[in-house]
This record gives sequence, C-alpha cells and structure tokens, in this order.
Amino acid sequence: MNTKQLTTKDIELAAGIIAGGGLLGIPTETVYGLGANGLDPRAVQSIFAAKGRPQDNPLILHIPGADWLEQYCQEIPAAARQLAGKFWPGPLTMILKRKDNVPDAVTAGLDTVGMRCPDCAVTRQVIAAAGVPIAAPSGNASGRPSPTTAAAMLEDMEGKIDAILDGGPCQVGVESTIIDLTVTPPRLLRPGGVTLEELEEVLGQVEVDEAVRRLMAPGEQPKAPGMKYRHYAPKAPVTVVKGPPEKTAEYILCHMGEKSGVICFDEFREGFSGYPVETLGPVVDQRAQARHIFEALRAFDRLEVTDIWAQSPADTGIGLAVTNRLNKAAGFRIIEL
Ligand code: AMP
Ligand code: MG
Repeated sequence: MNTKQLTTKDIELAAGIIAGGGLLGIPTETVYGLGANGLDPRAVQSIFAAKGRPQDNPLILHIPGADWLEQYCQEIPAAARQLAGKFWPGPLTMILKRKDNVPDAVTAGLDTVGMRCPDCAVTRQVIAAAGVPIAAPSGNASGRPSPTTAAAMLEDMEGKIDAILDGGPCQVGVESTIIDLTVTPPRLLRPGGVTLEELEEVLGQVEVDEAVRRLMAPGEQPKAPGMKYRHYAPKAPVTVVKGPPEKTAEYILCHMGEKSGVICFDEFREGFSGYPVETLGPVVDQRAQARHIFEALRAFDRLEVTDIWAQSPADTGIGLAVTNRLNKAAGFRIIEL
C-alpha cells in the first residue's frame, strides 16, 4: 500500500478515507494517532493488525465536541460534563459507560469506552466531515515510543496505512490523561497533559492506579487494560536515574559505557559531549520535557547505542506523565540517588 501524505487542506479527502473504512494517521495535540471509523468493526480491526496490537487493549473514541457524548455513552455523570467544559478540547480521555452502538472491537469487549475531544482543529473537522467518531490508539507500532511528528509515525506505518495527515509537531507530546468516571472515587489510569492536580481541583479525591507508578507483577491484572504490556521502549535498554540533576548527571558520567546514549536536561548537555545525547529541555520546563521525551527515546533507535541513561524529571504536574513514560520505557529500572 502506498501511504499518501496529506496536508491540513485535505479535510474532505481524509474524511473520505475514514468513511470508506480506511486507516488514517491523525495529528492531535498529544501524539499522532492511528484512526479508523469507530463504528465499523472491520476498520477498527485493521488498526490492531497495522500496529501489531494485542486484541485486549481498547482504543479511544475521538469526537469533535461534548455534544456527541450522548450518542455513544450512557449514565453520563455530572463530573463528565464539568471536566469536558473545563478541559475539552484537550488531552483528557474519560472512561464512561458505553451504549450498544459502540463495537466490541473498540472497547475490547468492556462495557465502558474511552472518549476524547482532541485540541486539534483539523482533526475535529475531519471527524465532523466523516460524520463518525474516529477510534484511535497512538500511531506507533505496538511497544514502540509514540510518534509526535508525521515523520516519526511514517517510520512505523509507511505502507501499512492509507494516508497520514501532517499537522506539524504535537504540542503536548505525551498521550492523553485517562480518568475512569465509572468508579468512586474517580481513578487516574494514565497521567497526561491534564494533570492530577487539575483533576483534583474539579473532582476532589482522585485515586491513582497503581500501574502508574510501579511495574505490575506477572499475572497481576491492572485496572486499565493494556497497562500490562511493554510500552514506549527503544531497542537499547534504558536506565533512569532519579535525584538532584547535578548528582544524576555525575552518576551517569561515572557509570555509562563507551557506546552509551544519554537523555539529559539542556543544562547538562556539554558535560556529555562526545556521546550521543538527546535533550529534554531545561530542568524547570516540564512542558518542554513532555514535548521531547518520545522523540528522545526514538532517536536512539536510529543510532548504534548499547544502552541509554536518562536523568529523571520531577514527577509533579505533567512530570507525572513524563516520568511514567520514561519509567515504562526503562521497565522501571530506576536508580534513586
Ligand atoms: P493508546 O492511546 O495507544 O495508549 O491506547 C489507548 C489507551 O486507552 C489504552 O492503553 C487503554 O488502556 C486505554 N483505554 C481505552 N479504553 C478504555 C476503557 N474502556 N477502560 C480503560 N482504559 C481504556
Ligand atoms: Mg499507545
């Protein structure tokens, strides 16, 4: 298959691909997604095939506004409207009770569905023009770091999808926050661009799923399906070093090998000159760190490195999402100083 490259002017073409049961790479503010008609089980199945994604890992339904919620969800709590009012369009996915018209292929057979309205005008226009919700996971091959540019997505999906709509680099850089509103108290299943602190302001108490901060033991069933799988991992093994940045930089310099790669804050780049280095942004700029984490991980797959050492960002605010992705990429191999 020849993957067409579309621009933001090609809304009708893109919508035609979705309506016709095809696969479309879509830009969003979080990461690029691999989209298909969310009401067409066959089209949804082809997402799993293109990614090599396990069947029990459900997808998110993308809609152009909160006014579409009622078509696909029931028993919608007041909190969902409040969150949509405050954070949509934006990087927040809400788990709600589904209606019967949502195919099992989207939800992996669950009676709930993840709903999101992306903060990307062109993608909302494509959904509206297609007239159906777009089911989409991240646009990477299963297990790999998520793509934050069209070029990164093409590395994994060229020849496997009908087209990709290039909307430029993603502004958030990590996948959406996922909050389960079908349980009391609401449960944070995945940290993302809408922070835990912001959710607590609206919801009061929020429970953080254990899979966010630690490795699930073999056989342990996480609340969020899909969280048990290996995620975000580059080819070379990753070690995360946590502590004050001066100390973590020094530790990495002492322990890295001749062919190691390094992920560090901007301030420490020079200290690693001569080695392959990817920078996250300044120590204090957590939004920049979120934007750069996946490209940093992906960059090392284009180089020959034996292993990767990473300075750990702080885990407050959006940092909880960045450290979650980095720790998962490392299989929770974390050194605390
Ligand atoms: P991705 O964007 O590639 O991370 O894929 C979507 C993520 O949403 C998956 O990892 C799922 O775990 C999560 N998800 C989707 N639907 C549900 C649901 N009904 N309940 C819990 N998690 C969900
Ligand atoms: Mg994913």
